[in-house]
Amino acid sequence: MQEGSINDKLKCVFGYTSFRAGQEELINALMNGRDVLGIMPTGAGKSLCYQLPAIMSAGVSIIVSPLIALMNEQVMSLCKKGVKAAYLNSSLTLHQQEMVINNIAEGMYKLIYAAPERLQNEAFIRVCAGLDISLIAVDEAHCVSQWGHDFRKSYLKISEFIKALPRRPVIGAFTATATKQVGADIIKYLELDEPMRVCTGYARFDLRLAVVHPKSMRSREKELTKILDSHKDECGIVYCSLRSTVDELYERLKDMGYPVARYHGGLCSAERTENQNLFLSDKTKIMLATNAFGMGIDKNNVRFVVHYNMPKDIESYYQEAGRAGRDGKGADCIMLYMPNDIGINEYLINNRDTNDEPTPNMKNQLRRAAKLRLNAITDFCNTRACLANYILDYFGEGADAPCGHCSSCEAREKTRKKARKIT
Ligand code: ADP
Ligand code: MG
Repeated sequence: MQEGSINDKLKCVFGYTSFRAGQEELINALMNGRDVLGIMPTGAGKSLCYQLPAIMSAGVSIIVSPLIALMNEQVMSLCKKGVKAAYLNSSLTLHQQEMVINNIAEGMYKLIYAAPERLQNEAFIRVCAGLDISLIAVDEAHCVSQWGHDFRKSYLKISEFIKALPRRPVIGAFTATATKQVGADIIKYLELDEPMRVCTGYARFDLRLAVVHPKSMRSREKELTKILDSHKDECGIVYCSLRSTVDELYERLKDMGYPVARYHGGLCSAERTENQNLFLSDKTKIMLATNAFGMGIDKNNVRFVVHYNMPKDIESYYQEAGRAGRDGKGADCIMLYMPNDIGINEYLINNRDTNDEPTPNMKNQLRRAAKLRLNAITDFCNTRACLANYILDYFGEGADAPCGHCSSCEAREKTRKKARKIT
């Protein structure tokens, strides 16, 4: 592949002036035929790491992604840039799928986005066998691990698909969050060959993390209104574990005159879109939501994220809290932890509907892993250690000095001052 032209493509196709952390290394490795594992936070620019090599390679690239909405969005934006891309997923009619398959066979596309289940589809496998495939990129690669927070059985079949190809293309795996265990599973189950591992780090010391321990449901609500009052006229998200909590808070806060919108899976899609747009356009400052809200949301002026309940794991917390302060101007991430949140999450773990029926054995393993993750976030809520460092440690990244502005660090500082006064 041509040297030096990566930068040209970056400018002329994508319109960017420079690479972000990790991108160039990952792109160069892939272009040199080396497998990669890229761990970069949401919004860091993982897509470019496979799109650019895909555009510059001789053959076709297949991008595996479980997120239909994001897939469609990326294809649209690539087509606007003049790149020939298509997606194959359940949002297309059968007839449309057939047309795409025919076009693939005729070599119409450089990039093909496919849901993981597609890789087990006979017609798709047959067509792919006749293509010159340069690269397979696996987005959201943590889905391959039963220790991860979003396991999908179909991810385990990706390696079978690759093995059935006449020639093994280079493989890139990407995710925002991977503990050591999950990282090892990605390498093992995707059968990455001595991949170059790039992790741009989990540190978000710009965020002020806090855990508050309200003594009652009433004081939990009081704490919330206190936070909202201290962030008047600023944008923020309030995450709740249950749809019913979102609805109750929505009614009460609206009655009190707070500018709130809501979002959860129980609302019809028109209402969800409308509410999301209200928030994105700053017309409504506060979004009350379940974890259904936020994927693919690129809003940089979120000044605070409140977890009204403890979320199910550190991975979810990190993703959700991480939606604050994207503009780098600092933000507050406050968790209103009460011990009964553990029960809510246990209930959700035991009653979760999974998207691709795992075997009973897998189901047990997934529950066990979910409970371990729940234990970790419960520890996080009760720790006296620096909260930012707790997260770094969880993801296996060496932590150094305490952040100095999380609730644990502030509490420590307070006791120290008190002690100084006494002596
Ligand atoms: P991720 O998949 O890691 O969450 P995306 O690939 O969706 O992130 O990229 C997030 C945003 O960053 C997108 O709007 C993308 O256009 C932008 N972006 C990516 N790389 C660069 C770059 N080198 N320079 C400027 N913007 C970039
Ligand atoms: Mg992405």
